Amino acid sequence: MSLKSSHDCVVIGSGPNGLSAAITLARAGRSVVVFEAKARPGGAVSSAELTLSGFVHDIGSAIFPMAVDTPFFRTVALDAYGLEWIFPPASVAHPFDDGTAVVLYRSLDETLKNLGADARAYERIMRPLADKWPALSGDILRPLHVPRHGLGFAGFGLLSMWPLSMFARCWFSTGRVRALFAGLGAHSILPLNYPFTTAFALVMGMTAHNPGWPIPRGGSGVLARALTSYLESLGGEVVTSSPVDSLDALSPGSVVFFDLTPRQILRIASSRLPEGYRRRLERYRYGPGIFKVDWALDGPIPWKAPECSLAGTVHLGGTLQEIEFSESEVGRGIHPARPFVLCAQQSLFDQGRAPGGRHTAWAYCHVPGGSSFDMTGRIEDQIERFAPGFRETILARRVMNTHELETFDANLVGGDIAGGAQDFWQLFARPVASLNPYAMPAQGLYLCSSSTPPGAGVHGMCGYNAAMAALKREGEALARASFRGRQSRRWNRLLQRWCS
Ligand SMILES: Cc1cc2nc3c(=O)[nH]c(=O)nc-3n(C[C@H](O)[C@H](O)[C@H](O)COP(=O)(O)OP(=O)(O)OC[C@H]3O[C@@H](n4cnc5c(N)ncnc54)[C@H](O)[C@@H]3O)c2cc1C
Repeated sequence: MSLKSSHDCVVIGSGPNGLSAAITLARAGRSVVVFEAKARPGGAVSSAELTLSGFVHDIGSAIFPMAVDTPFFRTVALDAYGLEWIFPPASVAHPFDDGTAVVLYRSLDETLKNLGADARAYERIMRPLADKWPALSGDILRPLHVPRHGLGFAGFGLLSMWPLSMFARCWFSTGRVRALFAGLGAHSILPLNYPFTTAFALVMGMTAHNPGWPIPRGGSGVLARALTSYLESLGGEVVTSSPVDSLDALSPGSVVFFDLTPRQILRIASSRLPEGYRRRLERYRYGPGIFKVDWALDGPIPWKAPECSLAGTVHLGGTLQEIEFSESEVGRGIHPARPFVLCAQQSLFDQGRAPGGRHTAWAYCHVPGGSSFDMTGRIEDQIERFAPGFRETILARRVMNTHELETFDANLVGGDIAGGAQDFWQLFARPVASLNPYAMPAQGLYLCSSSTPPGAGVHGMCGYNAAMAALKREGEALARASFRGRQSRRWNRLLQRWCS
C-alpha cells in the first residue's frame, strides 16, 4: 500500500503509545492511519511461540501494572475486544539464600505480615500512596505541570527524589525490606545511588497493591490486538509491514505522530527540523540494554521459597548490596557476574500459555547498551541459586541479545527498553527540556513514544498526552484538514464507484 493517504493524522509505529495516540485522535473525530514497520502491530507488546509449538511467550513486555487504572486505559473498555486481565495473588516475590522470600501481595495487610520490623515503616510510606494511585497516576504520568492532587503528589515527590540506596537504608532497618526496595528501584535501569531512583520503587510498590501486576490471558499480543481492534472500531486503520523511512513518503497535509525515538526521527525527519532542535535530539542519551531469555519448561520453577509461586514476577538478586553492585557495574559498562534478574512466570496463572500442564518463564537482566555478550548462563545461575533443579526443567530456550531486540523493534536502540536513559535530567527533559515535549518545532510534527514523558512502561500516556497536546494546538488546522480529508475520501469513493 502507498504511504500517501488523505488521513488527518499519520502515526508512525504501532507500539502502545502509537496506538493510544491514534485512539485518542480517532475518538476526537480525526481520521487516522498507523504505519507499522513489522508484520504485526503492538511494538514491544507482542507474543509468539518462540520456543516450542504451543508455548506462548511474551517477546517484549509481560507484566502490566500501568495498563489498568491509569488515565488512558481507564477510558478504553478493552474487555469487549478480547482482553482479560489475570491478577496473580502476589505481584512480586524476592527470595533469599536461606530459602525464604519477602512477598508483595496485592493485599497490603497480607504484605505487612511478612515485613517483620519494617512493617510499620512500609505501611506509613505505601498505604497513602497505594490508596491514592488512581488519582495520583494522573499527576505522575504527565509532563511537568501544576499537580491536581497537590498534597498526595507532594508526598510522592519528596520521597521520589531520594537515591534508592540512601532511601532503603534510612527508612528500613531489615536487610529483607531493603533488598525488596532495591529490586523495585532497579526497574529504573540506573545505578541505585542516582537521585530519583526511589520514584521507580514507589510506583512499582504502590501498583503492586493497587491494582496489582496483571498479565493478559493468552499473552501480551492479546493486549495489542485489543487496542488495534478498538482503534479500528473507531474508524482508524493500522497498516503493517510498512516502515516509514522518510517524511516525503507521506502526504504533506497530515499531522504526523512519531512513536519512535530521537535517533530514528533524526533519520526520517531531519530536513524538517530546525538545526538547534536537531542538535538537542542528537545529544539525547540511550540507557543500558537488556539480555532476555524465554524458556519452555517441563514443570513450574522449583523455588526453595514456596511463596515465590504466588507471584507473577520474581526479583532475583539477593541483598541490597548485591543489587546495587550489579546495577552500578552495568552503569560502568561491565557485564555483572551475578546480574539482577527480573523473572516472570505467566503460565502459573494462565494455563493456556503452555500445553499439557507444562510451563513458560521469561527473564531478563541489564547489560551495557549494544552488548552481544551471552548472559544465559549467568541468568540461569541466578534462578538455580533460588530454585535448585531449575535447569533440569528446561525443554527449550530462546535468547535475545541487544542486537536481536533492536531487530525485533527498532525503538529498542542498543537494547534499551526504556526509549532512552531515565536519569534525573532525561526523566523530565524528555527528549528535550520543554513545557510541551510532544510538539516538535515544525508544523504538524509530534513525538509520542516512550522517549517523551512519562517514559517507559505500557501505560499509553506518552501517546495520549501527545494526542491531547496536538488536539489543543492544532485544533483548528486539524478540523480544517478533517473537512478536506472527508471531502477527498468522498470524491475517491465516488470515483471508484464510477470506475467500476
Ligand atoms: C523485553 C522487554 C520487556 C519489557 N517489560 C515490560 C513490562 O513487563 N511492563 C511494562 O510496562 N513495560 C515493559 N517494557 C517496556 C514497554 O514495552 C515499552 O516501554 C513500551 O512498549 C513503549 O511503547 P512505545 O509505543 O513507545 O514503543 P514500542 O512499543 O517500542 O513501539 C514502537 C513501534 O514502532 C515501530 N517502528 C519503528 N520504526 C518504525 C518505522 N520507521 N516505521 C514504522 N514503524 C516503526 C516498531 O516496529 C514498533 O512496533 C518492556 C520492553 C521490552 C523490550
